[in-house]
Amino acid sequence: MRPEILNPLFASATQIRGIGSKLEKVLAKLVNPQGAAAGNPARIIDLLLHVPHGLIDRRYRPSISELPREGTVTVEARVMQHRPPQKGSKAPYKVTVSDGAGVLTLVFFQTFGDHLSRLLPTGEQRYISGKVEWYGGEPQIVHPDHVLTADQLAALPTIEPVYPLTEGIGGKLLGRAIRTATERIPQLPEWLDPAYQQRHGWQDFAASLRALHHPETVSGVGPLSPSRTRLAYDELLANQLALGLVRRHMKRTAGRQFNGDGRLRTKIIAALPYTLTAGQTQAVSEIVADMAAPERMLRLLQGDVGSGKTVVALLALTVAAECGSQGALMAPTEILARQHFATLEPICAAAGLRIDLLTGREKGKQREETLERLRNGDCDILIGTHALFQEGVSFRDLGLAVIDEQHRFGVHQRLALQAKAGAATDLLVMTATPIPRTLALTVYGDMDVSRLTEKPAGRQAIDTRTIPLSRIDDVIDGIRRSLAKGQRIYWVCPLVEESDKVESAAAEERHAALARIFPRQAGLVHGRMKGSAKDATMASFKAGTISILVATTVIEVGVDVPEATIIIVENAERFGLAQLHQLRGRVGRGSEKSACVLLYQEPLGETAKARLTILRETDDGFRIAEEDLRLRGAGEVLGTRQSGLPEFRLADIGAHQDLMTAAHDDAALILRRDPSLRTERGEALRLLLYLFERDEAIKLLSSG
Ligand code: ADP
Ligand code: MG
Repeated sequence: MRPEILNPLFASATQIRGIGSKLEKVLAKLVNPQGAAAGNPARIIDLLLHVPHGLIDRRYRPSISELPREGTVTVEARVMQHRPPQKGSKAPYKVTVSDGAGVLTLVFFQTFGDHLSRLLPTGEQRYISGKVEWYGGEPQIVHPDHVLTADQLAALPTIEPVYPLTEGIGGKLLGRAIRTATERIPQLPEWLDPAYQQRHGWQDFAASLRALHHPETVSGVGPLSPSRTRLAYDELLANQLALGLVRRHMKRTAGRQFNGDGRLRTKIIAALPYTLTAGQTQAVSEIVADMAAPERMLRLLQGDVGSGKTVVALLALTVAAECGSQGALMAPTEILARQHFATLEPICAAAGLRIDLLTGREKGKQREETLERLRNGDCDILIGTHALFQEGVSFRDLGLAVIDEQHRFGVHQRLALQAKAGAATDLLVMTATPIPRTLALTVYGDMDVSRLTEKPAGRQAIDTRTIPLSRIDDVIDGIRRSLAKGQRIYWVCPLVEESDKVESAAAEERHAALARIFPRQAGLVHGRMKGSAKDATMASFKAGTISILVATTVIEVGVDVPEATIIIVENAERFGLAQLHQLRGRVGRGSEKSACVLLYQEPLGETAKARLTILRETDDGFRIAEEDLRLRGAGEVLGTRQSGLPEFRLADIGAHQDLMTAAHDDAALILRRDPSLRTERGEALRLLLYLFERDEAIKLLSSG
């Protein structure tokens, strides 16, 4: 139960005058998009955590003769003349004002004259605040932010925060609502270490939050302002504390000791068509040691695309099987789950391991049989999507859960899964996203990490080229030559972040065009196709009955067709660096020489140009991730779609890296000294967890 003292903050935003239930819905999408998607209303706290992205300094009061080229000014002037547009004309309504030294024109589009006569009575003195523009050498202000009397001006904040807005919510309304919200901040006990707080010169939480919305200096709202850093630190600390609690909880529940005898692993390794790399062997031995230890395993396996994580997972699952327990491998997409099943089944058969597949599409009798095998222990390894942890699925004895490409799952989803996997289940999560350390901390906290740093032997560097779309005919000629040599090709269609539908339509169009040129050789997969149709196309591409696979980013993650040697990415400038790196990782998986063609639309912007250059220069996933962070800053690094990054409202991963490390260390120290948060500071920290909605972690505290 949320402590009562926080209730005013979690009350609905409709408590604020001027915000009705209709407006509240629009507001929710703006100030709490995640919550709104889940049908939750906008609350006072959401308003308070809506960070200004700039400010208007109204202290600047030049005379009209000294107006700057641009920027926001506040001018004191007398209203001279109203110049309404001709009847029926679309021209703007103009009002001229003067301060004796110069004349300024105020411009209003589609505004009623009546309203303007009241606002700007001829002959009266007014303060006018807004952005200066120059038109034919004359200064003007289009739609001033404020037209005020001296009294009204005195009531207005001199430095006014400016907030991100959305259709249907104006700046004035939002500003007023947030100002009202700041009156409701309760005084909370301090949760920061006093020495640390003092060293930074931070005010308490309530004062910092008020200062964020009532800045007193021009640097008052920037990410490095004291109020903002204090609040960002609070948010990061809540996050680290929650991760730390999850980890403690999992580590404390005694794990199982899986002392496999290696008998099945030997068979698996013998059945592989290759030998393991040194990195794979090392990762497997780290996992084997974890599983043999009495503590529960909580390990992350990080390895660049194509580094061979799947077989490491298989060997881990085999350890559980050797001990008579069961294992599950969960993939983020159905394509990937099916692919894992197809590649692992023959190898498992060779070792006598019983493996099954379960996704949302397995239905009816077949599904029942799989569930039955799971229950009575006739299945050793279950491969699937998140359907794997749905109701009705119960294992006889689940010993190990592996989550593949975990960054595709949201943080909440992951926590839920970990809870559902059962108290003693070992956990291995795998990701190809080579995220920098600071980011890894925010996502995983203190997981143990194994890294695959090398690629399997015999891989050749991928030849990466950038070609303008205007030369698409040359690319088509190139495809013709490659097909004649029996090569297989991916053609990735443009990313349309907002719309699956538009994206799929573009892919259909490209497919039709290519199918005309290369009859019977091109197939298509996109997100809006039926699962069975996707499977059929993927299977034909794998088997080589078609040689060109036109696809959207559905193939971005994990798809493995070693025979494919060319990937063409259309409108490459629309993709993020990490995403392009992932896509490129679809080729270069066999011993054949592979190529990646990045087709771009001219003219290229600076950032896009830099991105494509980096890809041409390097194939090192870590370097690419670092560059990506530098170029784009923060949250977008992992691709915006379901990045799995926690949603920070105040912390900025780019600007607050130091705070992040400090919060991590602070949380570790707190949990060492006061593991159940029982001291006075501990109680205050519980408030912090509620405040930033890390309640799941609090449940772990009470369940002991
Ligand atoms: P990822 O790490 O991207 O999940 P996969 O596990 O899909 O990589 O492996 C990529 C490809 O490399 C697969 O075709 C797999 O069979 C192959 N592979 C994995 N390990 C080795 C190895 N040691 N030697 C040669 N090929 C390997
Ligand atoms: Mg993989």
